[in-house]
Amino acid sequence: MSRRPLIAGNWKMHTTAQEAQQLAAAVVQAAAKAADRDVMIAPPFTALAAVSKTLSGSGVILGAQNVHWETQGAFTGEISGAMLQDLGCKMAIIGHSERRQVFGETDAMINSRIGGALQSGLVPVFCIGETLEQRDADQTLQVLENQVRAGLAGVELTDGAGLVVAYEPVWAIGTGKTATEMQAQEVHGFIRGLLGDIFEKNIAADMRILYGGSVKPENIDILMRQEDIDGALVGGAALNAKSFERIICFQ
Ligand code: PEP
Repeated sequence: MSRRPLIAGNWKMHTTAQEAQQLAAAVVQAAAKAADRDVMIAPPFTALAAVSKTLSGSGVILGAQNVHWETQGAFTGEISGAMLQDLGCKMAIIGHSERRQVFGETDAMINSRIGGALQSGLVPVFCIGETLEQRDADQTLQVLENQVRAGLAGVELTDGAGLVVAYEPVWAIGTGKTATEMQAQEVHGFIRGLLGDIFEKNIAADMRILYGGSVKPENIDILMRQEDIDGALVGGAALNAKSFERIICFQ
């Protein structure tokens, strides 16, 4: 079993190309202080080309915030995996709760996007998570199982490094509320078991499962000490160079 930690920053709809390059340069410096882990940043599409240049030769991974399943065609407003590859992207966030809730993306669309990403050689960062209502109704594990099974239907993998899962409880995203390390570990353990059911056991054992939801310098260390938490998907705190550096340098 070898799971290299992954700290990923989702910049959402923030930064111009110039601002993105400045922040990316700071991330490059921070990542150089922690060479035993992977760091990924996902700027807006409009900044990918500029940030790709900043990251060149640094080892920091360039990610996109979404990807379409076709390589080209009449899909206004969408971006294909081939286009992202062309800019140097290696990963793509798929199924973020904002895409599901604000833009109505369904499990079927997310499943197609995952297929498209894999076909074009991008590693999907597949996001799942329950709402507060669902957690309060004790539906968390069922909701997650449904999302995982639907999102990964028909997906074939030869190794665990080919896909990353991000558990992001919707009630913890951008709210300042974080799942406790015990709540997060319980869910991560459950997800790993489920992945072992869908794929080979060794693939599930090698697959990285990130936690996301108000990750910050104050809570990263305890989260990363949990057995099945292999990294973090960070929103707000990834926009602040100092905070993100501290998260990258978790102990
Ligand atoms: C996210 O959007 O993926 C996220 C986890 O945001 P935040 O860290 O701001 O809660």
